[in-house]
Amino acid sequence: MPGRGGSADHGPGTPGHPVTVYWAEYAWLPDGAAERVRIDVVKGRIAAVAAGVEAPADAVRLPGLTLPGLANAHSHAFHRALRGRTQADRGTFWTWRSQMYAVAETLTPDSYYALARAVYAEMALGGITCVGEFHYLHHAPGGRRYADPNAMGAALVAAAADAGIRITLLDTCYLAGGIGTPLEGPQLRFGDGSAEGWAARVAGFSADGRARVGAALHSVRGVPADQIAPVVGWADEHGAPLHVHLSEQPAENEACLAAYGVTPARLLADHGALGPRTSVVHATHLTDDDVKLIGGSSTWTCACPTTERDLADGIGPIRTLFDAGSPVSLGSDSHAVIDLFEEARAVELDERLRTGVRGHWPAPELLRTAFAHDSLGWPDAGALAVGARADLVTLAVDTPRTAGFGRLTAAETAVFAASAADVRSVIVDGRPVVTDGVHVTVDVGRELAEALR
Ligand SMILES: [Zn+2]
Repeated sequence: MPGRGGSADHGPGTPGHPVTVYWAEYAWLPDGAAERVRIDVVKGRIAAVAAGVEAPADAVRLPGLTLPGLANAHSHAFHRALRGRTQADRGTFWTWRSQMYAVAETLTPDSYYALARAVYAEMALGGITCVGEFHYLHHAPGGRRYADPNAMGAALVAAAADAGIRITLLDTCYLAGGIGTPLEGPQLRFGDGSAEGWAARVAGFSADGRARVGAALHSVRGVPADQIAPVVGWADEHGAPLHVHLSEQPAENEACLAAYGVTPARLLADHGALGPRTSVVHATHLTDDDVKLIGGSSTWTCACPTTERDLADGIGPIRTLFDAGSPVSLGSDSHAVIDLFEEARAVELDERLRTGVRGHWPAPELLRTAFAHDSLGWPDAGALAVGARADLVTLAVDTPRTAGFGRLTAAETAVFAASAADVRSVIVDGRPVVTDGVHVTVDVGRELAEALR
């Protein structure tokens, strides 16, 4: 088992830092799929990679296709409580939102910890090694402060640690119910009063080496224009990621144009909020000028197609944004589905439905969107390469979905055929989290059921 140390006759281990040797039947390396790949891990990092070699006797064997860890760049953990429920009576965006608020009303730091731990463990089962949690459920009902004003965020950080994955807590500034409308009812739990109040609360938060704190603006609906710059300033000062929901629904664009005379993307650009540390989430309803602003500033686009599908948001110009210079990441967002392979293929398949043409994205490019840790502030993850964090996700290639696998079409199988249920083994920072398709510490189905009861 990993951690016991290995002999590694030519491994780079030093006394006190034993090598764990893995041997992957197939592995997705930076230049494509390789066979018979030895991966040496020391102190949670990849120390050596060699393809085309036989398995050392003491190696941990990884049958199937081993990928880098998957990054879920946009999550609201508590939305998992809505899966399979909000579609009753057909469901609209507004019935979904009122049910989402009803869930938000009930959570405490303890119950949120239990729910999030099970949700993050579900993510781990699907090969997700790092989550970007877009967190705005800060306060007690009515907006009352907890004794620790970051108790809810701390619960999420603890939940990720106990589920075995890394987290970037994207602490969200959420000040208004709409442009010119105060927070009310269930929304009072989200508010810090001002960007300054938000920053003062976040300053009291500490995270360890497997958790990071980033910033988020809920949206141009949730943050008045004059409160954007202080949040951007905090992110700049801390070199932290900054995420923001952008133009998910046409109504947001209409309200923004009416209030400010510009699109949401232009408003963000005018307040310094776009750039290579920023991710715009959804980016569904954009003008050509918006695309130029986002692409030209190397701002990330975080696509969440299964949520956009469920909420009838529409299909964003993801390929056009990518071609304009915006790197793309993926998020399961509302968790109607937690399966980054499904998100990756949806980016292509939705584009096919929109255009009537196939073949917008090569499969390796789509696969890379699932490995994109940079937008969460972890540039040292997401590749099977020397020096990278040892996140190893192994897909079985003998399941009903993946049987017939071949090395030359490895990416196509991963993107267009595999599902989260085909993940057999997950190692995060060199620690085994999923073995033989089972989470090593969390009974995921049972704990989800208990948390959702
Ligand atoms: Zn969201």
